[in-house]
Amino acid sequence: MLIYLNNKIVSASDARVSVFDHGFLYGDGIYETMRVYDGVVFMLDEHIKRLHRSASLIELKIPQKPKEIKSAIHKTLEANSLKNAYVRLTISRGYGPIGLDPALCAKPTFVIMANKFMDYPVSFYKKGVKLIISSVRRNLKEAINPQIKSLTFLNNILAKIEAKKKKAYEALMLNSEGYLTEGTICNVFFVLNKKNKQVLCTPSVDCGILDGITRSIVLDLALKNKIKIKEGKFKKETVYNASEVFITNTTMEVMPVCEIDGNKYQIGDITKLLHSAYKNNVQAYISKQT
Ligand code: PLP
Repeated sequence: MLIYLNNKIVSASDARVSVFDHGFLYGDGIYETMRVYDGVVFMLDEHIKRLHRSASLIELKIPQKPKEIKSAIHKTLEANSLKNAYVRLTISRGYGPIGLDPALCAKPTFVIMANKFMDYPVSFYKKGVKLIISSVRRNLKEAINPQIKSLTFLNNILAKIEAKKKKAYEALMLNSEGYLTEGTICNVFFVLNKKNKQVLCTPSVDCGILDGITRSIVLDLALKNKIKIKEGKFKKETVYNASEVFITNTTMEVMPVCEIDGNKYQIGDITKLLHSAYKNNVQAYISKQT
């Protein structure tokens, strides 16, 4: 595996960062994860835009221009001969003496890692995955805004530890007011049946979530397919009573959920329709770029 580290392609064993790097010392940095289909980085502009939003929210100046970042991603994919891959781009505050002040770091550390995309087990999509609602609350958006895709992931890691202990695949977190937010690495959607009408629900951004790129595509596709949508504040009991639940992120796409805290769900028509529409949307994107 070859890594892009500060303007150079190096072997994984040479890709080293100092113990004084503020990403390592303080989780001071940001990242993006992208998926590559047939050599095309899906939604590349949107990921780079979000990277800049994260950077601006932590007052980190990215030295590379968007064009240079794109070229660095493509160089990394080429160096590793990858066509179907995931890419992780990490930018930390950089090397500097101990101390929180970002001014201690002269320049950010810039890393791109790319690896072959390993498909999720087929059973995840055929049967769905099991979730829990974690006892760990999502970071207050006034403390660390979830819109910053930051290296500070301990909040989510604590929820993931709880999920693993309960033999669940993923954990959903509530916010400090007890409203549903998102998973540790994904957004969540569910279907409610109201007066024989189906409504696709998802926590609104102001509940304190990352506005996932997959989430926004799914919302667009739902609109196009005339599915009624509600973005709002939901208690966990509401999702317990849903008829379908699924989670989304760049690598999972649309992944059905079969159980939350012992409540069981079918993989329903809306989940199936949106996953197939999502796949078609990916294909259309790839065709446009090639
Ligand atoms: N929420 C969190 C906390 C995440 O870490 C992620 C992805 O990493 C998402 C949501 C989904 O975002 P996207 O659809 O842009 O991958």
